Amino acid sequence: MSKILIVEDEKNLSRFVELELRHEGYEAQIAKNGREGLDLALAEDWDAILLDLMLPELNGLEVCRRIRQVKNTPIIMMTARDSVIDRVSGLDHGADDYIVKPFAIEELLARLRALLRRVDLESKQNSAKQTTVTYRDLTIEKENRVVRRGDEIIELTKREYELLLALMENVNVVLARDVLLKKVWGYESQIETNVVDVYIRYLRNKIDRPGEDSYIQTVRGTGYVMRS
Ligand code: CA
Repeated sequence: MSKILIVEDEKNLSRFVELELRHEGYEAQIAKNGREGLDLALAEDWDAILLDLMLPELNGLEVCRRIRQVKNTPIIMMTARDSVIDRVSGLDHGADDYIVKPFAIEELLARLRALLRRVDLESKQNSAKQTTVTYRDLTIEKENRVVRRGDEIIELTKREYELLLALMENVNVVLARDVLLKKVWGYESQIETNVVDVYIRYLRNKIDRPGEDSYIQTVRGTGYVMRS
């Protein structure tokens, strides 16, 4: 359920928007002036903020600007004046969209849905970026634990996967056997570090191409590394 903050000093309007939002399945809360709106915006996590421009105590542009110093919460400015200056300054202060009063509630709901969709898509794309690790033609999609060499999916056991991930997330860093053991198996002690050698062998059998150099280099007496 998306959580929406309504910062609006006109009681009838804020109450109406609140009811409509709840009716649409959103969680909604009202702040009745700029100061309260800013405090609530910073204190809690909102999926979006509907922010009036003309507010007592702190105007909407100032609230918007101060929220943006710390947070990226999506903001729709509600402005009574349809002047280009107001719209532009709202967007300049970091608002994502604006709507001119008086507005039809359907338009507000449509803009809100569009904004939430856009933000959702962006965050998915960002997390997809962050969760993909690559080394040469090897790719790991961390989210679904898929390993590819080129287009080909390589099936790994849990330990092999963790081992490969540790190496690929530390390209050019030599990982000692005991470090790998701790990372992958969670052992604190020195128990059988040759387990690592055994699993490196399994891993090489699966990822390396016959006749070519291994992706994983052995650093004699120490451990393993993938070098760029
Ligand atoms: Ca107002």
